[in-house]
Amino acid sequence: MARSLEDCTTLHNGVQMPWFGLGVYKVNEGQEVVHAVKTAINLGYRSIDTASFYKNEEGVGQAIKEAGAPRDQLFLTTKVWNTEQGFDSTLASYEQSIKKLGVDYVDLYLIHWPVSGKYIDTWKALEKLYKEGRVRAIGVSNFHIHHLEKLLEEAEIIPMVNQVEYHPLLNQNELHAFCKTKSIQLEAWSPLMRGHLFDHPVLREIAEDHHKTVAQIVLRWDLQNEVVTIPKSIHEQRITENADIFDFELTPLEMDKINSLNENRRIGSNPDDF
Ligand code: NDP
Repeated sequence: MARSLEDCTTLHNGVQMPWFGLGVYKVNEGQEVVHAVKTAINLGYRSIDTASFYKNEEGVGQAIKEAGAPRDQLFLTTKVWNTEQGFDSTLASYEQSIKKLGVDYVDLYLIHWPVSGKYIDTWKALEKLYKEGRVRAIGVSNFHIHHLEKLLEEAEIIPMVNQVEYHPLLNQNELHAFCKTKSIQLEAWSPLMRGHLFDHPVLREIAEDHHKTVAQIVLRWDLQNEVVTIPKSIHEQRITENADIFDFELTPLEMDKINSLNENRRIGSNPDDF
């Protein structure tokens, strides 16, 4: 169980990945992303989640440099976008990403979405990068069980992570159980459902009982369910608030209550329709 911002899960290849980090989807390149990432690092965040699709890798890289935290104490994730998938184009895209980020390696490289007819070749490129020591870990995003099953038939290396939409209204129970059997770490995107959970009566009641906000309850629920979480904010007060979740614990009854809110409701696309 994570007890601080630096606490990590051990991926199946032994790499340590922080349970908690900052997501930067829809954070503008330039001052906005530089400010958000620097603020987070200065507050003790050690993991940043970007993607070539977010078009802010340069700003993320600039922030890392300006924050002055040693590179080996940060965990940096980026992703190969759908139009860049395929073996050679993925390798080229990786070179672009590390150039923009201004780093020698990323800690975790993900396939952003399972593009039909492409993702096996894309995975082969990630395996090559991993075997050559260019990335510390490789994984996937938005993979259903059937995508993982197909990948595992062809893969030499089992993905270390699957990053998917995950929050109390989409608790991904079956997928989570499947990933556990393969030692694939589940990671939550849109953990706050982009603000759509804050008026939920059950979450509000639990938040009031703990003198916490709904955001803090939901992020704490992620950690107690052993799911890595990467809430996004560009505001210092919220970046601080979201990380202030290590001084309380949800009871088993509260966990059950939140676990039972599932409606299989998505804020993003279903990977099968994307
Ligand atoms: P989140 O669930 O993290 O919600 C972010 C929204 O909530 C923003 O509008 C933010 O506003 C607001 N917010 C954040 N904290 C608080 C708070 N304490 N109180 C009130 N409002 C708050 O959504 P994201 O979609 O950004 O998901 C998180 C990360 O997951 C992304 O940034 C990205 O890194 C990753 N992701 C990955 C995807 C994939 O396909 N692999 C898809 C989508 C996301 P503000 O910034 O104004 O504070």
